[in-house]
Amino acid sequence: MFSKILIANRGEIAVRIIRACKELGIRTVAVYSEADRESLHVRLADEAICIGGPHSKNSYLNIPAIISAAEIADVEAIHPGYGFLAENPHFAEICESCKITFIGPTAENIKSMGDKINARQLMQKAGLPFIPGSVSVVKNKDEALKTAKRIGYPVIIKAVGGGGGKGMRICHNDISLISNLMIAQQEAEVNFGNPAVYIEKYIEKAHHIEIQILADRYGHVVYLGERDCSIQRKHQKLLEESPSSRVDSKLRRRLGELAVRAAKHINYVSAGTVEFLLDPNNNFYFMEMNTRIQVEHPVTEMVTGIDMIKEQIRIASGEKLKIRQEDIKINGVAIECRINAEDYENDFMPSPGKIEYLNLPGGPNVRLDTHIYQGYSIPIYYDSLLAKLITYGKNRQEAIKIMERALSEFIIEPIKTTVDFHRKLIRHPAFIRGDVSINFVEEMLKEIVKAEV
Ligand code: ADP
Repeated sequence: MFSKILIANRGEIAVRIIRACKELGIRTVAVYSEADRESLHVRLADEAICIGGPHSKNSYLNIPAIISAAEIADVEAIHPGYGFLAENPHFAEICESCKITFIGPTAENIKSMGDKINARQLMQKAGLPFIPGSVSVVKNKDEALKTAKRIGYPVIIKAVGGGGGKGMRICHNDISLISNLMIAQQEAEVNFGNPAVYIEKYIEKAHHIEIQILADRYGHVVYLGERDCSIQRKHQKLLEESPSSRVDSKLRRRLGELAVRAAKHINYVSAGTVEFLLDPNNNFYFMEMNTRIQVEHPVTEMVTGIDMIKEQIRIASGEKLKIRQEDIKINGVAIECRINAEDYENDFMPSPGKIEYLNLPGGPNVRLDTHIYQGYSIPIYYDSLLAKLITYGKNRQEAIKIMERALSEFIIEPIKTTVDFHRKLIRHPAFIRGDVSINFVEEMLKEIVKAEV
């Protein structure tokens, strides 16, 4: 096992990783930007090193500065968290060449799944059902039109190097396909440094169902049930739950076994997520694989009792995975609300600033993963995630009730946050019924926003 780890991240996930390390008896080194001097991860770690200016490219994406910090602090491993360098194969390679263990998958794993066309082709070979669409990059409008004719409208244009729900465009006819193609290519170039796009059939009223897997270096892979992440806005997740009310034990096993097969096909190592879309007729399709720990991992931890960060660290240190598939049981229901510093009444505009008054929710069956505290100033430079509020119940109804109660205790003043948005959302009859597809929030947005708290 490692004795010292550097955490190449910030915010709640850096805090989460520090907590796991402390419980494992591992010393921690935080890195921080000049804007994060007062951040909680800096205070909680055993050591902290400033790695550059506020903009991510100068700090949390600054590979030479991070590697230098790791060398100076003499760590054996780096945990990248999610976002920033977590899915950068170049960074994973550099770590390995500097004899620092990258706590995550191999650079080859990241590369193969990072290119979405490549991932589609690989998963097709592994025998996973995949969404009808392009077999390779769509180069021009004739190719786009041909593909759309073959698979039928609506279609979605996606960036080959995309991520974070960005750069996707839904098209309902030839005219919108042609006009969106160029824009999508330009957006892909700006956001991901790669203009390549492809086309898939747009699956309407689907559920986003993802399977968590853990894989060790010796080819042992297990699945930890699913998460339903259908509550999204602009293709970005707002609330996640496990298990999904749309998945029964038979389907869970089917998807789980496919996810394990996918992981084995690419000799995957570490925690990973295989994402599927489940359509209203229960057809399911492989969407993509995320080669990192996910934001929403706590809901899986709550229902399985498995600490995924600790498992990632153990796997990276070369230990064999001790968990057997038959030992994994899904107990109860967990729900996570992402609390963002955003003004939901004003198109979810970011709302940075100083937290003057803070009351954190607590009590039975409530977990809060956060880096905020009273007096903390939310910087403008990073994403707006302030906290992940997770509640656990014997069943979904109970988890929702506890979430309602916990949200009502959560006061963050004077910052505008999504706390009240979630309070309104989880009271919606369709949400309570569990009858909510990926289109639900967009379709009901006005109604939810206008509802009384
Ligand atoms: P990213 O890597 O940017 O997060 P994903 O491929 O995971 O992109 O997709 C994010 C979300 O976009 C999905 O959860 C889903 O809501 C929507 N989406 C992506 N592909 C499709 C599709 N073919 N049909 C319907 N929705 C889709």
